Amino acid sequence: MSNRIEDTFGSMVFNDEAMKARLPEDIYAAMRRTIDDGRRLDISAAKVVAEAMKEWAIEHGATHYTHWFQPMTGITAEKHDSFISPSKCGKPVTEFSARELVRGESDASSFPSGGLRATFEARGYTAWDPTSYAFVKEGVLCIPTAFCSYGGEALDKKTPLLRSMEALNRQAMRIIRLFGDDKTTRVITTVGAEQEYFLIRKEDYDKRRDLIYTGRTLFGAAAPKGQQFDDHYFGAVKPPVKAFMDDLNDELWKLGIFAKTQHNEVAPAQHELAPVFGQANIACDQNQLTMEVMKNVAARHGLVCLLHEKPFDGVNGSGKHDNWSISTSGGRNLLDPGDDPISNMQFLVFISAVIAAVDDYQELLRASVATAGNDHRLGASEAPPAIISIFLGDELTSLLHAIENGEEYRVTDGGEMGVGVHVLPKIPKDNTDRNRTSPFAFTGNKFEFRMPGSNCAIAGPNIFLNAAVADELCRFADELEAAEDFDSALKALLRRTIAEHSRIIFNGDGYTASWEAEAEKRGLSNLKNCPDAIPRMKNKSNIEMLERQRVLSKKEIESRCEILLENYVKIIQLEAAAMSDMINHDILPAALKYSKVLSDGAAAKKAISPRLSICMEEKMLYSLSDLTDELYEAGIILDRDTVRIGEFDNVEECAVFCRDNVIEAMKRARNAADSIEKIVGREYWCYPTYGDLMFGVR
Ligand code: ADP
Ligand code: MG
Repeated sequence: MSNRIEDTFGSMVFNDEAMKARLPEDIYAAMRRTIDDGRRLDISAAKVVAEAMKEWAIEHGATHYTHWFQPMTGITAEKHDSFISPSKCGKPVTEFSARELVRGESDASSFPSGGLRATFEARGYTAWDPTSYAFVKEGVLCIPTAFCSYGGEALDKKTPLLRSMEALNRQAMRIIRLFGDDKTTRVITTVGAEQEYFLIRKEDYDKRRDLIYTGRTLFGAAAPKGQQFDDHYFGAVKPPVKAFMDDLNDELWKLGIFAKTQHNEVAPAQHELAPVFGQANIACDQNQLTMEVMKNVAARHGLVCLLHEKPFDGVNGSGKHDNWSISTSGGRNLLDPGDDPISNMQFLVFISAVIAAVDDYQELLRASVATAGNDHRLGASEAPPAIISIFLGDELTSLLHAIENGEEYRVTDGGEMGVGVHVLPKIPKDNTDRNRTSPFAFTGNKFEFRMPGSNCAIAGPNIFLNAAVADELCRFADELEAAEDFDSALKALLRRTIAEHSRIIFNGDGYTASWEAEAEKRGLSNLKNCPDAIPRMKNKSNIEMLERQRVLSKKEIESRCEILLENYVKIIQLEAAAMSDMINHDILPAALKYSKVLSDGAAAKKAISPRLSICMEEKMLYSLSDLTDELYEAGIILDRDTVRIGEFDNVEECAVFCRDNVIEAMKRARNAADSIEKIVGREYWCYPTYGDLMFGVR
């Protein structure tokens, strides 16, 4: 077999090449129209596609197929059915019908629906998304699908994502038509998701119940070494990690995922993978798949891949930068300033729409990345603050201010732009991406949303971003289409938009306390945690916008909000229970065992020299005894509060209780336990330490 990437790339995907090779010409053409223009595929064509897909899948080792979808749990769901059915004479034949390809019925009662679907009408259905290619994974043909209730309400993340991309397409098309483009047929959203992760040894992971149950360490004293030397970031990749990365790339390439960049990240044992960007819904599917493949490949290497947003206290957590742009189907990036006056002006329209969208819907964007895990990241001095602002770079900012003030903005090589400014300066890419503290940064020809946590299903933030930008573009298009004098209408629109929304632009250091104060003065919202952020999804203006753009209905938004809050509560409840389990069964017993060693030691000393007043064993014993008392006490409070979680009817109130009480009790318990860990001898301690976990792979 060839080892060349070109030959194996996409070999496990029923992609354009496979379809071209295996479908009759007319069916292939129909399929392309479905993929490119969203046209319906009739049932007779679907029958041929299903048969060809099945044959291809079986040749690639598949015995089963599944509709592959993203319910609101945040992971992908699958239910395997084999291709085999009995023939009349009882022998097995392989079958895969058009109906099985296009639509699946599934008992949805165990997926969260946030009250959208009563359990007595529990069926949901999955519907094929032909724009995202089917693929074979571990012997199963996976068919990307949307997941809806019988009433047509979205129960997943793909459905609203597709709707939001459609909304953005509709509105962006109106704008580019106004600028004289009558050739482009579609505008697509592009996304590239940079994925951060930790790798630790499986043998260490297996000894930590917190990692097994919750994905993060609930206890752990700081190791002597952390990330203080910055020696891990971009450092040489250690051989076991390199072997993992090589294997991972092979797997991803076979699945048609353009894994491109890999490097060590800031924290010890932390790494990053970035793919080449692609169409948003495919990028979202592929990121879900990437996370899954990462975990599977790690297991083959005796490693565990941690995708939690904050696996370890005291070192950086993991994020997932959502690089986002819009482009024409012909590949023209609409957030690229370009170098002629027309594309410059058009660029200003699109960038102004993004600025307005992020300002008007900052709380929606914030809510889209709110999870219990991400609460540990946002606002700490490692990730963007919980305040949304936009970094544009000095050059672009001063240009926008010039427009706002109606001043000439002169650049040396510029010509007239017709909006009171000269041709945009070429924005050197290197100048734009130096501010790593900004949550939403313009990086030359795309925006980078840096708030999502590493295990975020990025459909979430992209749904809101697309919808919000579509809505602003819609207002722009309404105004410009009705204008008698396009140039002056455009000038007025840009001036007004920039003036109204410049408060969201901030090029300084987002980690400082002075920014927090300044942001408050500007009236920007600062929602620090889930109970504050998630309910804001239901703000009247958010619901109206999402309904206007036909992305989510009020009912769907309310149900999503409920699911997210429930999820928050469940996570805190689980973490509290796991903590209690570890306190009682691991930490206190280890501390007591070590206390015995100390008291035996003290007794032995006293036996030799009875006049000894107080020895070091006794001193240590006193400290340890105080701490175990404290831990025991904290454990009791934690247990009491955990019970109370179950007593709430209202999920919003329950979430607030979790934040204000349970999390505080968890902090108290952790403080005591971590102090105990610092005293107890290594061989008496009950699980691998931070040092073992973060420096174990070498
Ligand atoms: P960095 O953020 O480290 O400076 P790059 O800017 O090269 O790195 O790219 C980061 C990610 O952004 C990559 O996944 C890349 O594919 C993606 N990206 C680049 N251009 C676009 C675009 N037009 N739309 C969406 N994502 C993009
Ligand atoms: Mg980046």
